[in-house]
Amino acid sequence: MSNLTAATPADPIPECPHCQKPMPLCICDSVTPLKNRLGLLILQHPQEQDRALGTARLLAKHFADATLRVGLSWPSLSKALGQPIENASYWAVLYLGSAHAADLGAEGEILALNRKGEVADNQRALLGKLEGVVLLDGTWSQAKALWWRNPWMLKCQRVILNPAAPSRYGRLRKEPRKDGLSTIEAAATIFSGLEKRPDIAETLNASFERMLTRYREVQTEMPELAPKRVAKDRRRGVRRGKRA
Ligand SMILES: [Zn+2]
Repeated sequence: MSNLTAATPADPIPECPHCQKPMPLCICDSVTPLKNRLGLLILQHPQEQDRALGTARLLAKHFADATLRVGLSWPSLSKALGQPIENASYWAVLYLGSAHAADLGAEGEILALNRKGEVADNQRALLGKLEGVVLLDGTWSQAKALWWRNPWMLKCQRVILNPAAPSRYGRLRKEPRKDGLSTIEAAATIFSGLEKRPDIAETLNASFERMLTRYREVQTEMPELAPKRVAKDRRRGVRRGKRA
């Protein structure tokens, strides 16, 4: 009877209502929201459930103007955002298609693409008029699903990142692409670049570092909080409906 708690596997570790991380991994109390000029819309795939290492909610908490939606499709940018947007081309969507910045031979950390997926000629004009940014949160394949299920994104300005440094995740998380940044790192690059505010990148990257440090500290004491992403990725390769 006395070990009832230990014998109940469903006994939950309390979670933060803001970042939805298990409390031991929460760093919310160290976050002071920044005033952002550009709007931020984060669309999170419903199956993105890496609560331990996910960064979307932590990112949203950093900005005074940020909207996070969980789902697969929305009829328009306005509906996704919950406010009318007259011209979707003034919003950027971080594109995760086949265009790799390195292959395009372009310079700069943020690149606007044209309709053909090539680096656009008028970078300054296209990036300078932007009013907001849409980020797709999930694994690469989840982000791709979000892209295909929301055709209104074709009206947005596609941008890709050409990050100067690799992701701080290091070996903690297996990303399908070498240059795959966390959502908070992607936002750090985009917002500091477009708003010309290095302090945004410093703040976001510092928070991400704090989150990872906390994660590493907690990992040894509470291994159940470790993400199960590697196992998930393996399972994805197996076709469903072919159960023995
Ligand atoms: Zn929290």
